[in-house]
Amino acid sequence: MQQPHVIVVGAGPVGLVTALGLARRGVAVTVLEREQGIVRSPRAMVYHNGVLPGLAELGILDDVERTGVRGTELAFLDHENRDAVRFDLGVLDGHEPYSHNIHLGQDRLADIALDHLGGHPDARVVFGAVAADFSQDEHGISVSAFVQGRLRDYRADYVIATDGASSALRTAAGLGFEGTTWPERFIATNVRYDFASLGYADSTMVVHPVMGGIIARIDDSDLWRVTYHEDSALPPETVASRIAAFYAELLPAGASYELTQFSPYTMHQRAARSFRAGRLLLTGDAAHVTNPIGGLGLTGGLFDSYVLSEALAAVLAGTADDGVLDAYATQRRDAFLTYGSPRASAFKTLVFNSTDRTELDRTLAALRTAAADPGLAREALRVSQPYRTPSLLGGASLVSSDK
Ligand SMILES: Cc1cc2nc3c(=O)[nH]c(=O)nc-3n(C[C@H](O)[C@H](O)[C@H](O)COP(=O)(O)OP(=O)(O)OC[C@H]3O[C@@H](n4cnc5c(N)ncnc54)[C@H](O)[C@@H]3O)c2cc1C
Repeated sequence: MQQPHVIVVGAGPVGLVTALGLARRGVAVTVLEREQGIVRSPRAMVYHNGVLPGLAELGILDDVERTGVRGTELAFLDHENRDAVRFDLGVLDGHEPYSHNIHLGQDRLADIALDHLGGHPDARVVFGAVAADFSQDEHGISVSAFVQGRLRDYRADYVIATDGASSALRTAAGLGFEGTTWPERFIATNVRYDFASLGYADSTMVVHPVMGGIIARIDDSDLWRVTYHEDSALPPETVASRIAAFYAELLPAGASYELTQFSPYTMHQRAARSFRAGRLLLTGDAAHVTNPIGGLGLTGGLFDSYVLSEALAAVLAGTADDGVLDAYATQRRDAFLTYGSPRASAFKTLVFNSTDRTELDRTLAALRTAAADPGLAREALRVSQPYRTPSLLGGASLVSSDK
């Protein structure tokens, strides 16, 4: 009997993690990636403690821990009063499998997954392959992709689209991408500066209508990520010229810092109408996108990936009915619409749009109360857990939340 074969379109973090999840279960995988290598733009970098059990199951957590840094503190900083509410993730100790987050550029996570994929002889990654369309019948599914200017067909049992927010396959399937686009432009900067010396926590949400943003440690060499926003009516081609003015306001007078990377982003809350069209399955940003405040974007994609690779491998092995893939599509879409997207929108509104001082004081007071009470602090710090959905096979594939 021929070995089951899945094509994963997109070698972003979700695509490579999904490919690894399939390869480890004996499925032959071909990953098609548009670019000539892993995309290096500054994007996800905080992995909530709740996604770590899944990385451990994939056998990559040790490498992720070694390459990244641990985030043990989360703070909300009221920029106006310079007053911070600090949460210590240590309160999760004994209550969650992991009591820290990991900070690591998503390109490094992709590197690690790619490296582990290299150990599977039936897994291959084709860089420079631009997927354009697909067609399917009762026996399989084909993806047509441009490789060095020539259109080539790749055939498989199933295709997983992890080709990001502008997914060509989602568009080809006519699955829409309904939702909203935020009016602000987000600017992600990587900068070398010792933010800890100014009292910033490993991850700090700065709350302010103008100076609001996220400041988070990327590594031990004082490389930090600062993501802030500006009016999207400002010309995008002159973003670079405005970064210095932002830093002049953020840092003490005369502070010297090194800007190593930056990228502007338009942010959305959107989801495809369905995460499945026959043998085509959508995962990660191809299925749903959110603004990054609160770190729920890639988190959602990883939770999709964990359940999908297990379920699809079982379908291909003949031990699960194809209907579990419908359950995947429904459950993960519901999880995005009922938790991931509203929670990220609430974080974004708090950080960038808190214009009512009385309301903000009330919110900060509630956060302060939670931070001082271990039980409430645990609830506040379980940011990703409600976004996780259980194994579709009914087994205990992912470590349960409370011991
Ligand atoms: C500033 C910023 C900060 C963020 N921070 C966080 C965070 O801390 N935590 C978090 O959880 N999330 C965060 N996110 C969200 C996170 O970056 C995304 O959710 C994540 O990139 C989704 O991964 P993906 O693999 O689904 O898609 P992508 O990372 O977009 O990867 C898609 C891949 O598909 C390839 N591709 C595209 N089209 C084609 C095609 N036609 N054929 C073949 N290949 C194709 C692309 O080249 C790319 O490699 C952040 C986002 C931004 C912008």
